[in-house]
Amino acid sequence: MVEKNPRVRGRFAPTPSGRMHLGNVFSALVAWLSARAAGGTVVLRIEDLDPRAQSRERADTLMGDLEWLGLTWDEGPFFQSERAGVYQEALDRLAGAGLTYPCFCSRAELHAATAPHASDGTPVYAGTCRDLSADEVVRRSAERPPATRLRVPEADDPAGTVEFRDLAYGPRREVLARECGDFLVRRSDGVVAYQLAVVVDDALMGVTQVVRGRDLLGSCARQIYLGRLLGHPAPQYGHVPLLVAPDGRRLSKRDRDLDLGVLRERGVAPERIVGALAAAAGLVDGGTGLTPTELVASFSWERIAAHRDDVVVDEAFLARLG
Ligand code: GLU
Repeated sequence: MVEKNPRVRGRFAPTPSGRMHLGNVFSALVAWLSARAAGGTVVLRIEDLDPRAQSRERADTLMGDLEWLGLTWDEGPFFQSERAGVYQEALDRLAGAGLTYPCFCSRAELHAATAPHASDGTPVYAGTCRDLSADEVVRRSAERPPATRLRVPEADDPAGTVEFRDLAYGPRREVLARECGDFLVRRSDGVVAYQLAVVVDDALMGVTQVVRGRDLLGSCARQIYLGRLLGHPAPQYGHVPLLVAPDGRRLSKRDRDLDLGVLRERGVAPERIVGALAAAAGLVDGGTGLTPTELVASFSWERIAAHRDDVVVDEAFLARLG
């Protein structure tokens, strides 16, 4: 059971870089159920920060898919592409406090074979550009535009250790210097980094609960830390398992046969998709057709936590889609 608390504000924050696949639907469904079961509010934010990869047309398709599934929202859509000003303000505050610095490292330098890698696969930043002199910055800026990095405390400084409890994955503790090192808040092409935008937006939109795929569990510490620097309280986090193919490979945009475009074309009913995902999450026993609204009463984080291994999209799962 979920305690009623109308102050809960959940959100979906999809990136419209292609058609949603079943993994995206799973995250959206659990985010929706968690907020609705508490009697709270659902905010929709379209994360279209990268103008090369995302378009309004894709966002419209995505919103049409959410409505088709019955995953309605109360506030939004808010578009990150229209919010450059609030991100710049946060960047200016961090820069004003001396917490950021320009970084000239190329992708190849960052991915040097010797660099240790964080749990999400990104290399831990070695601090190469941390202490460049002002002259050096001017000289190198003439060659290529820099990205912007946030300085994190040294590994032995308690200020750089972040602890929190995930609703499904339990207590977590991360030392930023070891997990990621100084991290990007703005790319060299001027696009604001996801980590910064998400923190600023969740705070300004009053989000109290962040529910999303387990692949972003490793971003929480960075986001909580950034929130602290900007004076925002941390939301509650709940991550949901990933969907994987029978060989263990994570489903992605490449698995076109499981995206909503193909499933809708095949005539698969939305209730079948919701029912199959609810069964995989342990919310119901069978995989019969269900609407999100019919699932609200059986939603609990205890059930999600008890089924937190990756969901294998196998023959039995596919059979539930009809
Ligand atoms: N925009 C991200 C995605 O679609 C999700 C970000 C988040 O929920 O914090 O993967």
